[in-house]
Amino acid sequence: MSRVYNFSAGPAVLPEAVLREAAAEMLDYQGTGMSVMEMSHRSKAFQSIIDDAEKDLRELMEIPDNYKVLFLQGGASQQFAMIPMNLFKNKVGDYIITGQWAKKAWQEAQKFGKANAIASSADKTFSYIPDCSDLPIDEDADYVYICQNNTIYGTVYHELPNTKGKILVADVSSCFLSEPIDVSKYGVVYGGVQKNVGPAGVVIVIIREDLITEDVLPGTPTMLRYKTHADAGSLYNTPPCYGIYICGKVFKWLKAKGGLTAMKAYNEKKAKLLYDFLDQSKLFKGTVEKKDRSLMNVPFVTGDEELDALFVKEAKAAGLENLKGHRTVGGMRASIYNAMPIEGVEKLVAFMKDFEEKHGK
Ligand SMILES: *Cc1c(COP(=O)(O)O)cnc(C)c1O
Repeated sequence: MSRVYNFSAGPAVLPEAVLREAAAEMLDYQGTGMSVMEMSHRSKAFQSIIDDAEKDLRELMEIPDNYKVLFLQGGASQQFAMIPMNLFKNKVGDYIITGQWAKKAWQEAQKFGKANAIASSADKTFSYIPDCSDLPIDEDADYVYICQNNTIYGTVYHELPNTKGKILVADVSSCFLSEPIDVSKYGVVYGGVQKNVGPAGVVIVIIREDLITEDVLPGTPTMLRYKTHADAGSLYNTPPCYGIYICGKVFKWLKAKGGLTAMKAYNEKKAKLLYDFLDQSKLFKGTVEKKDRSLMNVPFVTGDEELDALFVKEAKAAGLENLKGHRTVGGMRASIYNAMPIEGVEKLVAFMKDFEEKHGK
């Protein structure tokens, strides 16, 4: 068996220790005589898996008691609809458009009311985060929406927008658990777990309790109401059991690593290796403004499409996989999530150096 360094943006690399543990428990989970995939979601064994997962997540993120943690399905994309359906009271949402995921959320909200684009970085292919210190927030806005880390473009909010008292809603899919955040600054924080936390099929929603009400848009299906899931402890219907189990293991792995402060330091160290190399390279160039650089997703180009393609091909042959940039940006993108070991980034930088020596002018 040989594992590659997997720079995929998602689904993405998971901690090897977690995969090994899951493999060891595959046929017989802790003496139950069955796999977690085969057990009832109403069983004691599964109840303790989901309870532990929630408890560990609350500890890791220091989630205040007046927030609920929901383990849902439908991916991050389903939240694009659930958020307006549940939070629209005046039917007004303010969106900051920093990339495709924010744009999709904004477009979806337009189906349910007035969705304002109050700022955008589309003018420079989303290569920066707009100044959010004094935005034209709608007086009637039910919330202000951001995509905190832009997976495709490689930007991140280092400072949260000034929402002028409105509720902040954030999609943190690609920076989930990469560093500590102050949950109390948000009304809703949510993310699909397949980027930085677990396998595809689970979306985690952390929502302030007072935002979970019966007062949702008329016609909102039972399954799309936060209240349905909050009241049932995420067990209204069959949840994505196996995915939750793996997330739980990742939470324990993170705790053993020293939690999110330690993880942030590790992520900064990894990202610095790559950004420092890019900043002095004569061949490779990062594509986003330095001040807004993501710790998780690092896009870069050579400026020559053929050379980019050759790089991706040769990198793959060297065991560095999934470095092709998003189809809308081109070039390369290295996603260096929590579970990417620093050795992977070191190997990537060494490979880039070699490539530059061979192909640079
Ligand atoms: C991947 C991604 C999504 C979409 O996630 P799905 O689970 O496929 O719906 C949304 N937002 C961000 C920031 C992402 O990275």
